[in-house]
Amino acid sequence: MKTVAFIGLGNMGGPMAANLLKAGFAVKVFDLVPAAIQILVEQGATASATAIEAAENVDFVVTMLPAGKHVKSLYLGNAEQKGLLDIVSKDTLLIDSSTIDAESAKLVAHAAAEKGIEFIDAPVSGGTAGAAAGTLTFICGASDSGFKKAQAVLNAMGANIFHAGAAGAGQVAKICNNMLLAVLMAGTSEALQLGRDHGLDPKVLSDIMKVSSGGNWTLDKYNPCPHVMENVPSSNDYQGGFMVDLMVKDLGLSQEAALLSNSSTPMGALARSLYVNHARQGNGRRDFSSIFDIFVKANKE
Ligand code: NAD
Repeated sequence: MKTVAFIGLGNMGGPMAANLLKAGFAVKVFDLVPAAIQILVEQGATASATAIEAAENVDFVVTMLPAGKHVKSLYLGNAEQKGLLDIVSKDTLLIDSSTIDAESAKLVAHAAAEKGIEFIDAPVSGGTAGAAAGTLTFICGASDSGFKKAQAVLNAMGANIFHAGAAGAGQVAKICNNMLLAVLMAGTSEALQLGRDHGLDPKVLSDIMKVSSGGNWTLDKYNPCPHVMENVPSSNDYQGGFMVDLMVKDLGLSQEAALLSNSSTPMGALARSLYVNHARQGNGRRDFSSIFDIFVKANKE
């Protein structure tokens, strides 16, 4: 039986680790939040007191952390604390599924390679529903051998596994996707509200646009207008799902990447500005489809 250390058991990591258990892996878990560890222990995982303890003597490490600074400090360590690269065996494959900047992913991959250890970036798409169902899309930046070795673990958590290119390429593809998603979510919200302002039923308008040239993923799977679809965050007061703060982070990453390559991304820049403002109004922890609210007419007249 292969052993996986899973570090970062939040909205995404928790259900992903649960799917590894279901697939028959032995799973050692660690998170800064003890309650998150307990949920996995109840499903058969082994609790670890630290990330270092979790990563000792395992075949794979999977990390699902908020941002690049968490990933760098966990793998590289600092003057006071060892990093995972100081303690893992050369046979352990390190897989980071967090969404972070490509430069940090490359930095950790190169530091690992200098020690003869393989680190791959494998960010995901598919949201918390995909994490729970085991149908995530993994977008990997890896060597051919690292990509091949990761299959066994990634297949237990995902339905589509892509090899985008070398180290960092998975992160670049992921932020391109999320920039487009933010543009689609904001654009779909304004179109739906325009229809509502003219007396249209948003369900009917959604059905029309879904099969017309404006059709897109947000209409199919994640409608931002409350009660058009059930079992999506908009019908649950925008709780759960993908936080506005995380979308702000991803849109910042896309703009940093655009600066590095001198690319023109005006829609991404506008989407970032809308989402930053939305977060500043106190919506940072709500689902990103709550951007719909900025278009809704306040009931004050
Ligand atoms: P989250 O905030 O729910 O979970 C992050 C977890 O990491 C928390 O439980 C936190 O306690 C833990 N953590 C932080 N630092 C740690 C450390 N040093 N050691 C151990 N645990 C630590 O976030 P999430 O929604 O699960 O997202 C995780 C990553 O996945 C982010 O990079 C996000 O952008 C990306 N992502 C999220 C979604 C989504 O729909 N939520 C979809 C795709 C990608």
